[in-house]
Amino acid sequence: MKSYLPDFELVSPKTLNEALAVMANQPGARPLAGGTDLMVQLDNGTLKPGLFVDLQAVAELSDGVRMDGGAHLGAMTTFRSARQHPELVRRYPMLATAAREVGVLAIQARGTWAGNIANASPAADGVPALMVYRAQVELQSAEGKRVIPLADFYTGYKQMNKKSNELITDIQLPAPPPRRFEYYRKVGARRFQAISKVLLAAWIVLEKDQVVDISLSLGSVAPHTLRVRNTEALLTGKTLTPGLMKDARDSVHAEVSPIDDIRSTAAYRRTVAANLVVDFLTKVLAQGGA
Ligand SMILES: Cc1cc2nc3c(=O)[nH]c(=O)nc-3n(C[C@H](O)[C@H](O)[C@H](O)COP(=O)(O)OP(=O)(O)OC[C@H]3O[C@@H](n4cnc5c(N)ncnc54)[C@H](O)[C@@H]3O)c2cc1C
Repeated sequence: MKSYLPDFELVSPKTLNEALAVMANQPGARPLAGGTDLMVQLDNGTLKPGLFVDLQAVAELSDGVRMDGGAHLGAMTTFRSARQHPELVRRYPMLATAAREVGVLAIQARGTWAGNIANASPAADGVPALMVYRAQVELQSAEGKRVIPLADFYTGYKQMNKKSNELITDIQLPAPPPRRFEYYRKVGARRFQAISKVLLAAWIVLEKDQVVDISLSLGSVAPHTLRVRNTEALLTGKTLTPGLMKDARDSVHAEVSPIDDIRSTAAYRRTVAANLVVDFLTKVLAQGGA
């Protein structure tokens, strides 16, 4: 039985430029935010000890939320900070719902949204909510800054459109449409402290039962969290009818690519993912649209 973490090296830059310089000059350096994923990986041996770049003291990487026409989550913003920000919760309620799903309060107090994104688990609870709100990820390196949609960020299992010298420095959220119907449902082995078998985050805007805008993001049903864009396209511009819902079910079925693992089977995940989308659309209709 292991009692101690292996030795590792830690640097604690005070400014973003210092942090980016370490990332540029020390290949293999790993950003360390809350450490709630990294320390587990270090302990169980899936991550080799090396150089960690502690982001806690970097002045520009705040644990803060900034509201403008949309919202910005600083790179060190924790799940707890988001839950405790009344204006963010009012305008983006699914962020609070997602944050409540993450581990226990101690994990919510340490774990960051940026860490949830960069850990790239297909079962992450925060990423589907951010994706459905059409979040954009700001990345910075010593060479400059770029912004990419979170929905285009992942390229495969634990693979991202992020260079090894880049840091996530901001998560940008555009203003969501005011009259929308939202849905966030995590299916796991138990109500709390479970890794999802399937997760759907979604919103829809209807006008006279016709879909004018829709965002559907699924977790645990593919190598990475994804938006099911074919199903979104199938629904957009149409009137919600039982026939269209059946087509949506078939479309989700075809669009996901789950695996069998210790938590569930591919067949179960595919069926439940399709059922969740139909459940969402059925609830929308039952409530008379958004
Ligand atoms: C007991 C326990 C329960 C948990 N339960 C859940 C759960 O229910 N749902 C869930 O989704 N997750 C859960 N997690 C996982 C974890 O808490 C989250 O993924 C969290 O968001 C990670 O954030 P962090 O700040 O701790 O990341 P860290 O562990 O510090 O880093 C995670 C990864 O992100 C990278 N990274 C961090 N910040 C940046 C940055 N700014 N730029 C570039 N790369 C960066 C790191 O290098 C690392 O690869 C749990 C973990 C534990 C230990």
